[in-house]
Amino acid sequence: AVYDRLAAIQAPCPPSAVEKAPDRYRPDTEALGNALDDGHVVPWFQAKFCAKTRKILGAEVLARWIHPEHGMVGPDRFIGLAERDGMIDRLTDSMFRQALAQCGEWRKAGLSPKVALNLSPHMLLNLDLPDALVDMARDYGVPPEQITIEITETALAGDFTSQLDILTRLRMRRFGLSIDDFGTGYSSLKQLQQGPFTELKVDQSFIARAMIEEGARAIVESSIALGHRLGLKVVAEGIETEEQMRLVADLGCEEVQGFLLARPCAAQSFVWPTS
Ligand code: C2E
Ligand code: MG
Ligand code: MG
Ligand code: MG
Repeated sequence: AVYDRLAAIQAPCPPSAVEKAPDRYRPDTEALGNALDDGHVVPWFQAKFCAKTRKILGAEVLARWIHPEHGMVGPDRFIGLAERDGMIDRLTDSMFRQALAQCGEWRKAGLSPKVALNLSPHMLLNLDLPDALVDMARDYGVPPEQITIEITETALAGDFTSQLDILTRLRMRRFGLSIDDFGTGYSSLKQLQQGPFTELKVDQSFIARAMIEEGARAIVESSIALGHRLGLKVVAEGIETEEQMRLVADLGCEEVQGFLLARPCAAQSFVWPTS
């Protein structure tokens, strides 16, 4: 039955057409390797909106494993696995290529979408990465300035000197650099200040509690203010209610992402505004 839904996803359809795999399904390395070979790990896209006008500004690419038997497996169930078992390079390469190919198609159709790609901390070890990404972007006709690399803050807990080197090279090649899930990781404020970031994403856990917990609200407010003082664009993720939307917009947050405005969906169902 999931095969039928898999076919349906090739045509415009709501993302809910694929059922979530049951929680008990725990994929292993071999299954993930096969899924990558078979093209079952695909990019989905979640729109990023202007907080003021609610116009779509771009999309974040989120990995989805469309398992033919079990259904949709989310990245929380396989990114860690890939990192642990030496498959993250392959997964990243596959995701980035598919996403940039899609972006190239959109550009041919006259659109100029910005895309945000999630990069695993484990990829910040390779000094050749920045040039490899430039080549890849060129292959698909997407200028680096249209691409933002999102790195979760936990990523920055390792050897910061060499990570800083790679981040700097990426920035010199005009990629945007976003610090994802801000406030949940281990990076210090010094690293935030020294890193060549262009964007800060306030973690959704603080947004989720901002209306019910004074402390979470304080973190949302001060993260936005800090981001701005450091010259960064600030994005609030996990916006699910109008109340949260108003809060972050009033605080001057530039962009928002969340189920209130759009869920992640397959490229085929992603509708870019034409104007
Ligand atoms: P992230 O980069 O922080 O992405 C945001 C996550 O929040 C996504 O979960 C998204 O579906 C979810 N989300 C968005 N809006 C809302 C909302 O309003 N409410 C709630 N409850 N959730 C919302 P997802 O797709 O399961 O991804 C989880 C994490 O997996 C991502 O967090 C990212 O760190 C990682 N990830 C996803 N794709 C990739 C990838 O291609 N490569 C790497 N390295 N990591 C990836
Ligand atoms: Mg992200
Ligand atoms: Mg995030
Ligand atoms: Mg996250």
